[in-house]
Amino acid sequence: MAQEDVFKKVVSHCKEYGFVFPSSDIYDGLGAVYDYGQNGVELKNNIKQYWWQSMVLMHENIVGIDSAIFMHPTIWKASGHLDAFNDPLIDNRDSKKRYRADVLIEEQIAKYEDKIEKEVAKARKRFGDSFDEQKYRETSQKVAEEQARRDALHERYSKAMNAMNLEELRQIILDEAIVCPISGTRNWTEVRQFNLMFKTEMGSTADGASTIYLRPETAQGIFVNYLNVQKTGRMKIPFGIAQIGKAFRNEIVARQFIFRMREFEQMEMQFFIKPGTELDWFRTWKEKRMAWHQNLGFGAENYRFHDHEKLAHYANAATDIEFRMPFGFKEVEGIHSRTNFDLSQHEKYSGKQIKYFDPEQGESYTPYVIETSIGVDRMFLSVMCHSYCEEQLEGGDTRVVLRLPAALAPVKLAVMPLIKKDGLPEKAREIIDDLKFHFNCQYDEKDSIGKRYRRQDAIGTPYCVTVDHQSIEDNTVTIRMRDTMEQQRVEISQLRGIIEDNVTITSLLKKLK
Ligand code: ATP
Repeated sequence: MAQEDVFKKVVSHCKEYGFVFPSSDIYDGLGAVYDYGQNGVELKNNIKQYWWQSMVLMHENIVGIDSAIFMHPTIWKASGHLDAFNDPLIDNRDSKKRYRADVLIEEQIAKYEDKIEKEVAKARKRFGDSFDEQKYRETSQKVAEEQARRDALHERYSKAMNAMNLEELRQIILDEAIVCPISGTRNWTEVRQFNLMFKTEMGSTADGASTIYLRPETAQGIFVNYLNVQKTGRMKIPFGIAQIGKAFRNEIVARQFIFRMREFEQMEMQFFIKPGTELDWFRTWKEKRMAWHQNLGFGAENYRFHDHEKLAHYANAATDIEFRMPFGFKEVEGIHSRTNFDLSQHEKYSGKQIKYFDPEQGESYTPYVIETSIGVDRMFLSVMCHSYCEEQLEGGDTRVVLRLPAALAPVKLAVMPLIKKDGLPEKAREIIDDLKFHFNCQYDEKDSIGKRYRRQDAIGTPYCVTVDHQSIEDNTVTIRMRDTMEQQRVEISQLRGIIEDNVTITSLLKKLK
């Protein structure tokens, strides 16, 4: 199936099976805001648990917090968001569509890269087994030309972004002859800065309401609680603070479903360390976070690091973990070495001392920070895209199956009486009453068994159990596995053991190195 089709199918599957709905659906939706349905919320909670437990349970020196969304407005001055959390936007006068200037240019860079990869792929096909890829890349005239164009553009772009030179960004778009994908024209406006924070007011106007912001990242809630947690938890450096929570960004171009939303959720961990050790810890966290992703079993070839060349003003090293989405490799998580920028800024703006006294060295310092920051919704999307599968069955039938990692699946077990009488429903309910304390079970008696299996396949339920007349006599049932569709007769008393080991978050965590 073409990758574009996969994406379209995932989007409609999410709606049809209660994973994700457009927000305010009966009012025709709200741009780039989505709601999670009955199955979506379970999957999302499982992703969050996998992350939370891998951070907080698996590390003695990481604790969690839950800070408020509303924060003192000066925080955003100190963090730099008020002055610098901007995207450069540009409009096409003909289509009236708005774009991010940086994204238009990055897509152009990606086009050159694609051309190179296509050349290499063509040569690979032509030369077969004797193909020496490295040599080809070094010697091909065409590859060299494309590479030179790509590098020149990249350099010009990086310079313009670092200096936030808006005129130059526009000039690049004109020089590269980038057209609007809708109108096909180059009738571009000037490039303008656009701040991504949402504003609101706190207090009634009569007592002098103050402007406050919906947080655009959860990280600042951690920084401003550094002293509270360090003191009350008697934390010793190195230590981390983890948090899961909503963040809000007034994204200029919100496309691609839940990939880029205006209200989304982040899972962030700030790891406080001694100055000078940051590059070692940066490497450690890069490895740990990649292992966390790959532990889901989606294949190492679907992930890559993208090291940043243009570093944010606060960072001295940064990388993204990218996942192969149906629309290309895309950032799912960012790992940043943020130096002591945030704590020093809060020290300056709040007037409070934010230091760590190292008892072994007998000295105080402002800790450095390594941040790992992952979007729950992007993670959700990557899991859905990778798990969605249409299978051709014998006899010409097809089935849609979500091959979710069992530990993330919304429902772990469906229990189905073969027919709605002869005591079979009661027996099925008995099984659920016993197992519902251990994992999420669903009872289903409607339609044929075949249809019921398909429904469960479509939401990724790893196990289905059928209760038949024999079950009443000898307390055995048929258990069916989602992926292989294999069926086995087992005793009811064995069910918990068979299922539980494979469906818990603990089972995932135990595989994590
Ligand atoms: P992008 O370049 O795609 O806008 P970013 O580099 O600004 O992302 P960060 O500020 O590093 O993103 O945020 C950390 C993580 O939060 C991202 O890796 C992503 O998973 C998630 N995230 C950021 N913005 C959004 C959004 N608008 N919708 C959904 N998730 C988001």
